[in-house]
Amino acid sequence: MNAKRVLVINSGSSSIKFKVFDKNDEIASGIIERIGNSPRMRISLPKNIMKHVHARNHEEAMNEIFHILKELGIQHVDAVGHRVVHGGTLSDSCLITKNVERTIEKNSELAPLHNPANLMGIRAAKRLNVPNVAVFDTAFHTTMNKKAYLYALPYNFSKKYGIRRYGFHGISHKYVYNIAKKMFPRARKFITCHLGNGASITAIKNGRSVDTSMGFTPLEGLMMGTRSGSFDPSIVEFMERKGMSANELIKIANEKSGLLGISGVSNDIRDIGKSKSARAKLALEMFSYIAAKTIGSYMAAMNGADIIVFTAGIGENSPSIRKSICNYLKFAGVKIDSRANSENKTIISSKNSKVRVLVIKTNEELQIAKETKRVLKRKS
Ligand code: ADP
Repeated sequence: MNAKRVLVINSGSSSIKFKVFDKNDEIASGIIERIGNSPRMRISLPKNIMKHVHARNHEEAMNEIFHILKELGIQHVDAVGHRVVHGGTLSDSCLITKNVERTIEKNSELAPLHNPANLMGIRAAKRLNVPNVAVFDTAFHTTMNKKAYLYALPYNFSKKYGIRRYGFHGISHKYVYNIAKKMFPRARKFITCHLGNGASITAIKNGRSVDTSMGFTPLEGLMMGTRSGSFDPSIVEFMERKGMSANELIKIANEKSGLLGISGVSNDIRDIGKSKSARAKLALEMFSYIAAKTIGSYMAAMNGADIIVFTAGIGENSPSIRKSICNYLKFAGVKIDSRANSENKTIISSKNSKVRVLVIKTNEELQIAKETKRVLKRKS
């Protein structure tokens, strides 16, 4: 099937984000927030509209989306592409069948905050009677080999409990990788840095993810907006003895840590940058230091790097963070052109840099639309 017009759905526990692509052009986008609790819809394309809607649950929210699309003159879509956070070991995007739904449901154990919400979106979209495709945040990383994805816990933990590193943000890493590869077809070793509120770095060799910083859950790895990133799990037991349950600590590590926890100001680097406090400065220093260490380790994993890509909110917009990360990488011959960097140009490395450094705007929804079309073409 040749799907021309694709509705992309990113369904969260109380919100549904949507975008419609005609070929590769975005023709509508918006979000319904606070589903079940005075919901409202914000449309940002084709024009800015904000309205209160009737949406006690995801089905009603989806109805409102279909309704508004009709009002905007979008009478039909050929397919729906869904972002699904956890595909477990599913290695590619796929048409949603009963079996795939069951797998997503089963994987809810691994992503309790995300997969059930993604499923609600899938179930609500079925009434459109067009093919539904699942695009997984984990799929791109299923090419990692055992030495990268196993934790050095007893070997049977992976098989028995599914405890292993899965990695996330795969849709974004793949999208920016594809663009960078088109720009530099001969390059083989890429390090893609998705630095947003959530943050992860991936090592890509010959088109395959060989390692990535997030693990069993998105908590592992880099310091993020509100997530701590990696810390010693013995702290969980230590804090239990101080009266804090494991649940409470993990919640703090997800929601009150990272840039927010260290700076005490905000999870947003724009606010932190305005603060004069020593903790704000430290938060930014730690963020760059940890990201740089990860990039360095991936240079070791791939025996070098040809290209480093920065993307997502911080990666795309913060010359100062990019500069402080790249300063740690001088040992590897990384050199930044200050002017290109401060102007957020696409190529920010200087001519004599051994590694090219790029800034590429991510577009996860467009990647989902592309994957949806690819899956349906394959099926026909
Ligand atoms: P999410 O992971 O929620 O999709 P984003 O990729 O949108 O996050 O990144 C959000 C973060 O990016 C913000 O918290 C902020 O720190 C940073 N950011 C966004 N826009 C800018 C900007 N213009 N300048 C500097 N930092 C920015």
